[in-house]
This record gives sequence, C-alpha cells and structure tokens, in this order.
Amino acid sequence: MTQTFCTLLLIFLFSSLSQAQLDESKKAVADATQEPVKINTAEDHSLVSVLGYHDFSSTKQATEMCLPTDTFRSQMQALKDLELKVISLGEFLAWKNGTLKLPERSVLITIDDGWKSVYHEAYPVLKEFGYPFTLFLYQDFVGPKKLALNEALIKEMMENGASIGSHSVSHPYPSTIKKYIEQGGDAYHDFLTTEFTQSKAYLDKTFKIDITTYAYPGGFHTPEMFEVATTAGYDLLFTVIPGKVSKKSSNLTLPRYIILGTHDSIFENATSFPATATSAASLGAKIQSTPYPVTPPAGATIDERLPEISIDLSTVEQLDPESVVMRVSGFGKVPHTYQPESKKFSWKVNRRLRKPTCDITVSWKLLDAESYEKPMSWTFVLNRQAAYLPTTAPSLPEPKTQFELPNSSN
Ligand SMILES: [Zn+2]
Repeated sequence: MTQTFCTLLLIFLFSSLSQAQLDESKKAVADATQEPVKINTAEDHSLVSVLGYHDFSSTKQATEMCLPTDTFRSQMQALKDLELKVISLGEFLAWKNGTLKLPERSVLITIDDGWKSVYHEAYPVLKEFGYPFTLFLYQDFVGPKKLALNEALIKEMMENGASIGSHSVSHPYPSTIKKYIEQGGDAYHDFLTTEFTQSKAYLDKTFKIDITTYAYPGGFHTPEMFEVATTAGYDLLFTVIPGKVSKKSSNLTLPRYIILGTHDSIFENATSFPATATSAASLGAKIQSTPYPVTPPAGATIDERLPEISIDLSTVEQLDPESVVMRVSGFGKVPHTYQPESKKFSWKVNRRLRKPTCDITVSWKLLDAESYEKPMSWTFVLNRQAAYLPTTAPSLPEPKTQFELPNSSN
C-alpha cells in the first residue's frame, strides 16, 4: 500500500508547480518558520546532503521505492570514494543547534517506513562501512506487519549505529489529510495532534529515547503541521524536496533527496555540491543501475514524446538475439529492430507518450539456455510541461519538485 502511495506521490512530484507557486510556497514556509539565530550562520558554510531510502532487495528488480542491494552498496562505496563524511542524526542535531561544527560537506543517511529488508539488506552494508543511519518509523507498520521491522530488530540496529525518528502513526494518504481539512472545525488539528504526539509517545516508550525528529509521510506538509509538531516536541522535520541542508535551512522543512531505484541521476545530484565561499563545486558519483547502456537513460527527463528506446547488449556473451523481448508500459511487447553489428535493439515509440513515466523491460536468453536471464528494467520520465506543446517547442527547464497540498490552508 505504502509503495503505491509513494508512487502516486512521485507522479505528483513530477507534475510540479509553476515557479510563481513555488516562490509563494517557499515564502509562506519562510514566514512561518522564522527562528532566532543562535550562531553566526554566515560563517558556517557546511552543507549536508540528506539521503532518503525505503525498501531494498537483492533478488527483486529495482522499482522507484526498492533499491537493489548492489546499487546501495555501490552508492555507499561512492560516499567513501568522494570522501564525504557520513554523520549521525545526533551530529546533525548538534550542528543545527549550534553546538557542533561539521566538515563542509557531509551526508546523513535516512530510511523511511521500517521495511524488514532494511535489516537483511541495507544494515549489513551500513555496518561494513561503519556508517550511522536513521530510521523514520511509522507506528502502524512497525511490529504488526510481516514486511516490517519488529522492535527487537530495531533495538539491535540502535546498538549498532541506528538512530530513530517518527514517520507518523498511520502514514496518512493525501486523500485522508484532505478529508480532515474538509471536515472543518478542530478535526484536522486533532488528527494531526494524534499523528505527531501518539507516534512520538510510542517510540519514546518502546525505545526509551526522546524522539525529536520527523519525516513527513510522502513529504506532504501543510502550515498547520508546523505548530502541532513543535508543540509535540519535534525539532527537525524532513521533506522530500531535493536540496542541501545549510545551517540556516528551516528546521521545519528540511530538504532531502529520495533515492529512487529507477532514477540514477538523483544520487548523482545528491552527492554533487555547489561552490561555497570557501570551496569549489564538486561533482557527484554516477552509479548506473542499468548494467547495459540504454536510451533514454534510466531516470532521465525527456521532452520527446516519440523517443527511440534502445538497449546495447554487445557485452552479453552468448546472447541469443532471437530470444530478446522488449516491453514498454502502455504498449506491451513491442516489435523492436535488431542491428547484428552493434547488437543494439531498438524501437521507436509510435504513439505519443502521455504518462509521466515510461517503464521498459528487456529480457533475453543465452544461446542453448533453457530459461531467460534476469530481465533488465528501467524507467525514464516525461517532461509534463512539454506534453502539451508542439514537438518543435524548445525544451523547458527541469520541473522543480515540491510537496504542498493544494488549498490546504483554506
Ligand atoms: Zn513513508
């Protein structure tokens, strides 16, 4: 359920708002969150990239919310290669409170929901690298659900580098939030109070710790949540709006990069740092989740509504080209062409793509093999703004991402 929810959110994410709306919502957030400055932020040039993960698997195919364990390992290795310090939630809090100085560039690893795969897939990798990490847990999932972590596993991880924060009681869908807003009166306020205070009380009691951090489920936040969260005792609240955290970022809407299994560019952006007054810009790591070259690349945003989709299988030894099957979402099995010299398989989309994302799966057999190899899948994104323009229109800037419930304050 949660994965479907998150997928819907991502579709919403890519649908994006206009720049004017973005500016207005940013201003609203800034107005609502002015705080006294404790130290001279002008002299603190540190930036923190907060990474947000969900589910992991070493057997299943990558999906937006489920990252192959191998890719996760490559990403953790990349953090080491880039010499980015991975900090704990405690260090992050101390830095935001003005009691700790951080290196100029560091990374905070967070994992939402509490999937059981965290313990079996991600935790061994994190332990191997000695990286601290943070679990944002939601009460209705943890413990009772088969696919979720139980309290014993969480406690074990807490003894080995894990911190925890709240991710609500029920992980409410936007439709649920909207329902309470529309009820009027105290309904929405009461609903929010339960989500923030009850989840904190549960975690405080179960894990004997004072929880002060929260990740908005799906990144959704409304101005009403800020006061409720502060009253409930939260200091830091994380969104899914990509960007680096600086000392002066609002503690109520902290940016975070949600690392999707099908969008390679996000990790690269998350590990790229802009120039500051004291250091030059640095490029992030490109971790390709597709083992063979493909077009459009995994996670790329394109304007073209009739793109050519291709995969280069020239490095697959003993490939049986006759066995190759290409499937494209919305089209099913497609009649690809094959170039024997380059071992490239391609198909030009013949009906304009209308959905925000396009999924491709290619499967093949090796010569003399009985069964198919593990299929390869990837996803690319259609620029929504370009969808309704003539195909000759100049390309538009990448849509910004933002989670705001429309009319939530009305
Ligand atoms: Zn979640």
